[in-house]
Amino acid sequence: MTTVARPAREEPRATPPPKAAPRARIDLLHSHAWQVSIGRFVVLLLVALAVGVALDAPLAVLALALFGYSVWSLVSLYRLQRWLRARRRAEPPEDLGVWSDVSGFVFRKLERERSRKRRLIRTLRAFREAAAALPDGVVVTTRGESILWVNRSASRLLGLRAAPLRGRALDEIVPHAARDWLAQGAHEALLDVPAPHDEALRLSLRVIRYANDQSMLVIRDISHLMRLEQVRRDFVANVSHELRTPLTVLHGYLDMLEPGDAPEWAPVLADLRSQSRRMAQIVEDLLTLSRLESRRDLPEDRVVMAALLEDLRREAEGLSQRRHEIAIEGDRSVDLVGSQQYLHSAFSNLVSNAVRYTPAGGRITIRWQREHGGGARFSVADTGYGIPAEHLPRIAERFYRVSTSRSRASGGTGLGLSIVKHVLNLHQARLEVASEVGAGSTFSCVFGAERLRERAPDGEAG
Ligand code: ADP
Repeated sequence: MTTVARPAREEPRATPPPKAAPRARIDLLHSHAWQVSIGRFVVLLLVALAVGVALDAPLAVLALALFGYSVWSLVSLYRLQRWLRARRRAEPPEDLGVWSDVSGFVFRKLERERSRKRRLIRTLRAFREAAAALPDGVVVTTRGESILWVNRSASRLLGLRAAPLRGRALDEIVPHAARDWLAQGAHEALLDVPAPHDEALRLSLRVIRYANDQSMLVIRDISHLMRLEQVRRDFVANVSHELRTPLTVLHGYLDMLEPGDAPEWAPVLADLRSQSRRMAQIVEDLLTLSRLESRRDLPEDRVVMAALLEDLRREAEGLSQRRHEIAIEGDRSVDLVGSQQYLHSAFSNLVSNAVRYTPAGGRITIRWQREHGGGARFSVADTGYGIPAEHLPRIAERFYRVSTSRSRASGGTGLGLSIVKHVLNLHQARLEVASEVGAGSTFSCVFGAERLRERAPDGEAG
């Protein structure tokens, strides 16, 4: 495992496990320390007494023996203290008298500690090696985002040299494009960021928080995925583009044919015309989606909402042909900043869906209102068929339809909500859908405060 950052402390070297024989001997020695010591003491007293009696000075000899015993005890205590203070843990000194019990106890405890430490070190090494061998980059940091550890893949993906990284700030090593994301708390994964040293290397970044005070930045190489995605986008764009011209020609010829010229072919002609129109619309929608997908941003205009709401009302009335009641409720004092063309097309899509999926006699309400948090919401509410809850998560996918026959019958391509979602993404806005079967649906586009501009009371741009 190569790490560019060293661990917090050098791991203690694992000492070889102690041999079984000395251990058993030590255990035996120390478990009988008290009996042996008392026995020795008694023998010493008896011998001193005997010698004292023989020399006719029992007290003096006894005192001498006791003095000798005290000195020996002190020396044993000193040896024990030296052993305890020694850095290297050797076996305890032999023959410490009653202190052997203490030294044996300490030695056994230390042995257990050491083997626990060895096990922990082995586990830690195994984890480190596994993390180092991961194909994904891993940077372990403190909550304050100071770097603790970096694996090999992270060094490769971020183009880090083997300089000491420990203690440096995380935002010094992440790609430039990820710094704002990191500063804002990195709550969601960040996709498709170019690597700092190689623009062709595309990365995804994700921060995982664990324990109380640590987090982990996981970096994944998604260049291959991005290339595949580009191939898919190019393919769809090319096919749509290639289909456009033949379809226009076909459409032109069909328009030239008069149903009255061959009345028996009139129904066939009508069907051909409607199908070719549908195909042309699908091709146009696919091209719009390709254009949106290839853009990182859109031209920004000041979109006058009062005028746009009026346009939408006219469109809704045109599509509805008086079959629905159409209402506009709006705070016309606030305008939007974004692409006039694409926002208009997204809002029109929602209005057209509301008309197409609401039976005659229903009500459609187009609203533009401020949000409590400072943003604003454009919504289209209808009293139509509604959408079962299980379809809602996938509703904005390409060609996803709740009811294919209803969508086709009403001239749908299945691409409208995909376009809406892409347009909103390019405006850092989100699509919200609330729906109840049989009661109706509300599609809302929620914009941030930075996209809003106040309008002066006289109607002029503020
Ligand atoms: P389509 O062209 O089929 O309308 P969209 O992408 O606009 O495609 O919508 C996807 C599907 O979502 C539709 O086929 C329809 O089933 C459902 N849907 C969209 N808007 C509404 C609505 N207002 N009420 C009920 N269903 C809706």
